[in-house]
Amino acid sequence: MIKIADIHVSTVLLPFRFAFKHSLASRSYSTNVIVRVTLENTLTGATVFGLGESVPREYVTGETCEGAVAEIKNNFAAALLGQTLVDENKPTDSICRLIEQTATVLNVYGRRVGASFCALELALLDAAAKLEKTSVCHWLAARNCRTASDSINYGGVVPFGKRNTLAALLYFYKLYGYKTVKLKVGDDPDLDIFTVRKARELLGNSIVIRVDANCAWDFDRTVEFSRSVKAFNVASIEQPVPFDHLEELVELTKTVEPQIVVDESLCTVEEAENLASIKACGGFNIRISKVGGLLAAQKIVDIALKNGIKIHLGAQVGESGILTAAGRALACANPNFENYEGAANFFLLKEDLTRENMTAGLGGRGKMPQGYGLGVTADERNLSRLIVKSKGTNAQPGSAAIEATGRGLHV
Ligand SMILES: [Mg+2]
Repeated sequence: MIKIADIHVSTVLLPFRFAFKHSLASRSYSTNVIVRVTLENTLTGATVFGLGESVPREYVTGETCEGAVAEIKNNFAAALLGQTLVDENKPTDSICRLIEQTATVLNVYGRRVGASFCALELALLDAAAKLEKTSVCHWLAARNCRTASDSINYGGVVPFGKRNTLAALLYFYKLYGYKTVKLKVGDDPDLDIFTVRKARELLGNSIVIRVDANCAWDFDRTVEFSRSVKAFNVASIEQPVPFDHLEELVELTKTVEPQIVVDESLCTVEEAENLASIKACGGFNIRISKVGGLLAAQKIVDIALKNGIKIHLGAQVGESGILTAAGRALACANPNFENYEGAANFFLLKEDLTRENMTAGLGGRGKMPQGYGLGVTADERNLSRLIVKSKGTNAQPGSAAIEATGRGLHV
């Protein structure tokens, strides 16, 4: 019998090389949740580990790292620990069934608890696919009768910054070969228009320009912005209004020329269904962490495709290589994404948690890693150094690691 023998939850603090700023937050480090799952063959005693990650953000799903750890400990892990796989020859299918059963019972796909569930879900899928000696990406593609592609091309994101650093970053993206650049806007109207004009001027006409207002505007201001930048060909406006202003999103989708992409409004599978049914957008920004993991993200992709909504792969600022690998698995398993974000690992993080370098290469190219599971292996030295006490309020890099001992749930 294969059983879920051990679940270890911890929090890591990843320092950035520079502060990243948009209209909802400015940060110079990221606190992420890491889950390590052990599957055990009860006959032979053989074990296999899986690793998962999530990035809880209060201004996205309302979750904090502390809350996510408690949710995993008290609800999700408690429901899954000790469960056995129905079909030992197909561990990934079996674990998928267990994940979806648990998600249904605990209403994971209808509540904003995605970042709490995601780390555990990814760790379970990683472990099961390793046991099956397959990659999560290939398994996911085959499940949808598709063949996975071996790479994708990421675009760049420009955070708020001074006018002179804007030009430097835009030149860098152009030289690096990104084909899409998303600009964070919403600071002040003049600066927003300056930013878009400058981007078009420096990037030329062949690069797609998108903007993300992170909830900063209302209906009128969005329409006004859209008119002001008409000459600069902005492909999409992401989350112009606060997440629960759905009527404004419906009206904007009908009114403005650029595609309206939802991000903060889209945190659960149920929200995806609702947004599609009321026609509140032309695009979904799908981030694995906020929606509850890969299986939830795939459900949202399916809803989008069924309703003619474009899909954009999003990322949390501060994801380590583990979440980057999960996002890439989703993107390579589905052929229809309009845009890909993330994989800025080396540029943003002082240290990463995976041995594989998941940073997008020249042209934004991100290759699907070859290994089993999510395809990445933990950099154990960095991981143990960057783990912080989950309940500590003064958590600093380098704090003592929490060690898992014995079998069971460890937080
Ligand atoms: Mg966004």
